Formats: sequence, C-alpha cells, structure tokens
Amino acid sequence: MPISSRGYVLTEAGGKLEPYEFNRRDVGDVDMLVDIMYCGICHSDLLVASNELGNANYPLVPGHEIIGRVAEIGRDVTRYKVGDIVGIGCIVDSCRHCNSCESGDEHYCESGWTMSFNAKDKYDEYTCGGYSSNYVVDHRYAVRISPDLDAAKAAPLLCGGITVYAPLVRHEAGPDKSVGILGLGGLGHLAVKFAKAMGAHVTMLTSSSSKAQDAKVLGADNVIVTTDPDALSAATGSLDLIINTISEKHDPNPFLHMLKRDGVMSLVGAPAKPLELFAPALVFGDKSITGSMIAGIEMTQQMLDFCAKHGITAETEVIPIDYVNEAWERMKNKDVRYRFVIDLSTL
Ligand SMILES: [Zn+2]
Ligand SMILES: [Zn+2]
Repeated sequence: MPISSRGYVLTEAGGKLEPYEFNRRDVGDVDMLVDIMYCGICHSDLLVASNELGNANYPLVPGHEIIGRVAEIGRDVTRYKVGDIVGIGCIVDSCRHCNSCESGDEHYCESGWTMSFNAKDKYDEYTCGGYSSNYVVDHRYAVRISPDLDAAKAAPLLCGGITVYAPLVRHEAGPDKSVGILGLGGLGHLAVKFAKAMGAHVTMLTSSSSKAQDAKVLGADNVIVTTDPDALSAATGSLDLIINTISEKHDPNPFLHMLKRDGVMSLVGAPAKPLELFAPALVFGDKSITGSMIAGIEMTQQMLDFCAKHGITAETEVIPIDYVNEAWERMKNKDVRYRFVIDLSTL
C-alpha cells in the first residue's frame, strides 16, 4: 500500500510553499517508514527551489535535515526497531558497489546518488523531502540519533553539521592545531563547536563585530573582526586550517595570509561566482585551497556519535510549518541565529 503523506510544496520558482498531499512508496523489505518530527531548513533548500542551479523539479517538497521516529520496518530490517529516533540527511540511495560507495563515500557514487528531495529515484519518481509528515527510506541510508540529543536541535547536523565536520576530520583538527572558522552562520557556528570539542584552538573570523560575543559563547578562543585590517595582519601565519563557510562571492586572499606554512583553506560554501585568487598567497608557504561536500553515511553516523558524546547540537529557532515562507524570507536576509527547524507536529 502506498503511504499517504502531507507536506508543503513549491510549484514554481519564486512561488510560495503551500500545503500538499501526496503518496510515498510502500515500505519494502529493506525500508523503514519514518514519522517526521523535525526538519531543518538548509540554504540548499532555497537554492534548489529557486532553480538558480537549473535542476529544480516541481512540484518540489524540500527538506533534507530530517529527524523522525521509526513507525514501521520492512521484514529485512534488523538494525532498527519501531520507536527508534533516526535521521535522514542528503543521501537516500546509491549503487552500493562502485569505488565511492565501497569507500563509504556514497555522495560520490559513480552511478549517481539519490538526494532526499528533488531527485529521480530508482522507482522513477522524484523524491519528496522532509517538509512533510513522513518518509520511506532504505534503512541503510538512515542514521541513528542518540536519545541524549535534543531531536529538534539535532536536525541541522544532518547536512550543516556533516558539511563542516568532514573537513575538520580530514585536515586533522585537534590539540596543537589552530583552526579558523570563516563566517558565523548555520555552518560556521557548528564548525566552532566541533573544532573546540576536537581540542583545537579556535579563531572565529567574522565581518560582524556584533557576533563576537556569540562566537565566544559558542566556544571560540579568539575572535577576529575581518573588517579590521590591523587585526588581520596581526594574525598573519597563525592558522593551520581555515574552514571557509562563506556562500557568496568574497575575497579569500586576506585569509590565505593568515595560514601557516602548509596551511589549508577548505571551502564548504559554494559561491556561484568565481573567487579571485592571488597566486603568491598560496605559493609562498606551500598552502592549499580545497573543497568539501558533506560525507557518506558512515562518517555522518560518526559525527552524530561525536555530537552525543560532546553534547553538540545546533542553535535553532523552531517554527511551525505555516511559518515556513517567512522563515525562507528571513534566511534570504540572514535573519536567523543560526538555523530554522520546522516542527512537523504542527502540520
Ligand atoms: Zn556507487
Ligand atoms: Zn543542506
């Protein structure tokens, strides 16, 4: 039996999200039906929905930071039971046998991975995301959420969290490392918490002096207001790693000067316009710029376990679903500290 679902849908670029009823596939042998409790609002929801990338498929139900309770399991599912709290992030399917899938990097599946919304799946239907009452997911693409974590505040970990956790792990943030977090928003505030919990010395780089106090509360050891040229030059050669979370066009060069020899800047935002690079800023000191996009299921689970151990969740503003259009507007104006999360019990 197909599963009936309710949600909020966008029927055209630039339109408003509206109530919507639709069906999900029936629960197959390896699937679970998850009743959605919370769904984070990620910038990618707005980006895809606006069709700026040219890949939007309407009607489009956004949402890929999903937390819910298992309501039904397929007969081959042994890892979860009814009542468990689980997360569904960006990835809901992949081929499972290519090099990327075998190395745990399903988000680089060589046959193409399936995103949790706006993607054609192997059933030849477009996936509908988490701005909805439930989800049918292959259990191998769900992750376990510790009951110790606040479920609403955990939702943004599923995309925002893993986006910054992965490069911190890859570039070995930890004791004796100085890590700069560039940009204090949805991604940056989680990056500060992670880097601090990993034991690094954390410097927040923000253009807004009003956010300096917030950064300290979040765990930053040091804050540099990037509009202050003296503060920037005083920090020359001081950082091993910069997680650059800025999602619009900006000048990365002043920050490259802040890297130590062999230092790395990891881009996790994806400005649509090219960044201008002053090559000597990299050449002198063997520095690198690299990029990072989410991570596979295994590392996402590791990240959630790390969060449970260290008590890390997002700073959120929880909203009812009928506030979602206002929330999108406020996000466009950067008016959120630091992540909106929809409470789906209000649907
Ligand atoms: Zn694959
Ligand atoms: Zn996202």
